Amino acid sequence: MTTQSQPDVPSWEYSPALDSTKVTIEQKNKLFIGGKFISPKSRSWFATVNPSTEKKLADIACAGKADVNAAVASAKAALPKWSRLRSTERAKYLYAIARRIQERAREFAILETMDGGKPIKESRDVDIPLAAQHFFYYAGWADKLEYAFPGANPSPVGVCAQIIPWNFPLLMAAWKIAPALACGNTSVLKPAETTSLTALRLAEIFQEVGLPPGVVNIVTGAGDTGRLLAEHKLVNKVAFTGSTQVGKLLMRETAGTGKKLTLELGGKSANIIFADAAIDQAVEGIVSGIYFNQGHVCCAGSRLFVEESILDEVVHKLKHRLSTLRVGDPLDKNTDLGAINSKSQLDIVNGYIAAGIKEGAQLHKTTKHRLPSKGYWCNPCFFTDVQPSHTIAREEIFGPVLSVMTFRTPEEAISRANNSPYGLAAGIWTDKGSKIFEIAKKLDAGIIWCNTYNKFDAASPFGGFKESGFGREGGMQGLRPYVQLGATLERAN
Ligand code: NAP
Ligand code: MG
Repeated sequence: MTTQSQPDVPSWEYSPALDSTKVTIEQKNKLFIGGKFISPKSRSWFATVNPSTEKKLADIACAGKADVNAAVASAKAALPKWSRLRSTERAKYLYAIARRIQERAREFAILETMDGGKPIKESRDVDIPLAAQHFFYYAGWADKLEYAFPGANPSPVGVCAQIIPWNFPLLMAAWKIAPALACGNTSVLKPAETTSLTALRLAEIFQEVGLPPGVVNIVTGAGDTGRLLAEHKLVNKVAFTGSTQVGKLLMRETAGTGKKLTLELGGKSANIIFADAAIDQAVEGIVSGIYFNQGHVCCAGSRLFVEESILDEVVHKLKHRLSTLRVGDPLDKNTDLGAINSKSQLDIVNGYIAAGIKEGAQLHKTTKHRLPSKGYWCNPCFFTDVQPSHTIAREEIFGPVLSVMTFRTPEEAISRANNSPYGLAAGIWTDKGSKIFEIAKKLDAGIIWCNTYNKFDAASPFGGFKESGFGREGGMQGLRPYVQLGATLERAN
C-alpha cells in the first residue's frame, strides 16, 4: 500500500498478481514439424524474456536452413491429403481448435501477457477470444467456398509461409492459419522472436485435436528464419504482417517467382475529432486508440486531428484521462498499459520522443505512476504544437505516443489525414451521420471507425492501402489470398 510520505502513486499498490504461477513453461521449446516437437538441426537456441521483469522465461529453438527445409517439406507432403479432405471434415478440425482455445483461454492469456508484456485485461478480453473467433468464423466458411466464389471453382494455393509480428502473437497466428486451412492449404508459421510461446502452445492444441501431421508447422527464430522460409522454392504463398521495411524486401524477393503475396504493414492512422462530437466519448476513443497495447498496434490512432475551436478542451480532457491510466504489472487486471515488448522497441520509442522535443513539439506526460525499476516501460504521452513535417507526425512510432494537430475545415482534415505514405486506419468523431459518410469516402484508409476506435471482428476485413500493404485478412475477403480461382489445373500438387 502507499504511505502518506510517498509523493506519487506506485504501480504496485495492489497485491501482486499470482496468475503467473498457474502456467508452466517448458525450459526448452522445440520446433513443431510434422506434428511433433523436435529439436532444431541448427542446435541453436535463444532466450525469450518477460519484458516486465527482464527475467528469462525459456529457451526457444532457432530454426536454420535445414529446419526450414524440413518444415516446408512436411507442409508439402501433407498438402494432397489435406486439400482433398472433405471440406466439412476440415471445418471440424477448425471448430475443435477454436473450442480448445476457449477451454485453455486463461492459460493462453497469462502466457501472452508474460511473454509480450501486454495487460492481462487485453490478452484475456481481446486477443484470445478473437483468436478463437477467427477459427470459428473460418470453420464456417470451409464447406462454403463455392458460395464465396460462385462459379469460380476455388482451389487451394498450396504451401503458405506465414510470418507474424510480436504485437498480437496468438491473434496474428489465428488470422493467418484459420483461413489458410479452411481453404485447404498447409502452413509453415514463423512467430516473432520475442513472442513465440503462445504459437507453440497452439501447436499443442493441434496435437490434441488430431490435426494431421504437417498441416501446420511452426519454425521459431529471428528475421533470418523468416527470410529462409519466404524464399523457399516449395512455398506457393507468403503472408506477412510486420514492418513496411521487411514488406518491401519480401516484395522484391518474391517478384517473378510466381509466389502469391499479401502484406499487412505499418500505419500512421488519423483520428479526426470535430467540434460537434461527444467530446468525452471521443477522448475515451482517442485514449484507447493510441494507448491500447502500449501503442503496439499497427492501426493505432497515432495522429490526432482536432477541430481548432475545441483544441483546449480536448487537450485538457486528454491530460486528465492520461493521469488516471495505470502503468505497471501486466498481470494485474487493473493495469491499463503494460510493458514495452523489448528493450530495442523501448529505445525506438524513446528516440521518437526525443526527436519530438528536439524538433519543437511540446510534450505532455501527465501520469503520476512511478515505473518499476526492472522491465521496459514508457509512460503514455502526447505532443501538441506538432507540425506535419515533424518526425513524430510522419513516422510510425509503435509506442504510447500521440501527436495532436488541428484543422479548421473538413477539407483540411481530409487532406492532412491523407498526407501520409501509410493508409491503414482512420477514426471520425462527429454527431453528424452525413459528415461521417462524406469524409469516410475521401480518406485513404483500409479501416475506418466512426465514433469508436480499435474494434475488431472476424467477419470484418482488415488491411491497408499505400505503404500499409495489400490483401485483406478477416471476413469473406480474407479467403481470397488462399484460393486460386477457375484453375484446378494450376492447383499445387
Ligand atoms: P518486422 O521486423 O517486420 O517483423 C515481422 C516478422 O518478420 C517477424 O516474425 C520477424 O522476425 C520477421 N522478419 C524480420 N526480418 C525478416 C526478413 N528479412 N524476411 C522475413 N521475415 C523477417 O516487424 P515487427 O517489428 O516485428 O512488427 C512491428 C511492425 O509490424 C510495425 O510496423 C507494425 O505496424 C506492423 N504490423 C502490422 C499489422 C497489420 O495488420 N497491418 C499488424 C501488426 C503489426 P523477428 O521477430 O525475429 O525479427
Ligand atoms: Mg518475450
